[in-house]
Amino acid sequence: EARMRRGLPTKKSIHGVKHIIAVASGKGGVGKSTLAINLALAIASFRHRVGVLDADIFGPSIPRLLNLKAEPQTSEKGDLIPLANFGVKAMSMGFLVGEDSPIVWRGLMESLNIFLLTILVMKALQQLLHQVQWGELDLLVIDMPPGTGDTQLTISQQIVLDGVVIVSTPQDIALVDARKGANMFTKVNVPILGIVQNMSVFVCPNCQHKVHVFGQNGVLKTSKEMGLDYLGDIPLDADICELSDFGTPVVVTKPDSFNAQCYKEVAKKIM
Ligand code: ADP
Repeated sequence: EARMRRGLPTKKSIHGVKHIIAVASGKGGVGKSTLAINLALAIASFRHRVGVLDADIFGPSIPRLLNLKAEPQTSEKGDLIPLANFGVKAMSMGFLVGEDSPIVWRGLMESLNIFLLTILVMKALQQLLHQVQWGELDLLVIDMPPGTGDTQLTISQQIVLDGVVIVSTPQDIALVDARKGANMFTKVNVPILGIVQNMSVFVCPNCQHKVHVFGQNGVLKTSKEMGLDYLGDIPLDADICELSDFGTPVVVTKPDSFNAQCYKEVAKKIM
């Protein structure tokens, strides 16, 4: 009510879903989707009912990460029915427009007028947020698009988020944007669950020598400066990348590996 009086949109929960968290990053390519999917799978492995909503309308990654392609069915009510793999439900723009077409779609829309473009994107987003039949879920993980744009703002303002996990690599250029992201969520009253450092250390498979490719403790330092929780560290490892590309994420394929343990440690902290 107070929000309505102040002219702010009222936040909605999602039917049947107990908790909703978002995974966000200031920049693209820092491992946000990889973290989102491995966290979802880790939490599912702790016997929770988990779904993943891919909110990246133009660059959906979840279909590939979960090796899912089919077009979703719709319920009698007209809601989208999520697909599922490895015990996790998923919904993505990628299911609706096909793997390569988001780019085509964007090309098409760029030639449209900007108002029309905004309306179409927001309509797609509204459908993903409010017209998916998730069933009963303990947790929905929202994979945000990178950055601090309209989509992130819309989701933060329309959905009751329990919190957001921010991921960054340790180099300055990523951290500057991660700070911007954190500030945006704070402004719209979304609790920040903490920051995850990704791609911090590369361990040579031959000699075990450690290389801090993007710097060593950048995220830890930033989290301290901002008074945010540090949720852990994921190494830079070819296995994480390869398994993601195959659509068989490390947490399900190699659950006892060090990499999987790193994701599981983060998952335990946010539960
Ligand atoms: P974002 O969602 O931030 O754009 P992605 O999760 O798509 O980033 O990751 C970008 C690329 O980096 C992908 O090819 C992914 O497999 C790879 N990647 C992510 N995290 C790691 C990691 N810890 N080690 C190695 N490769 C990684």
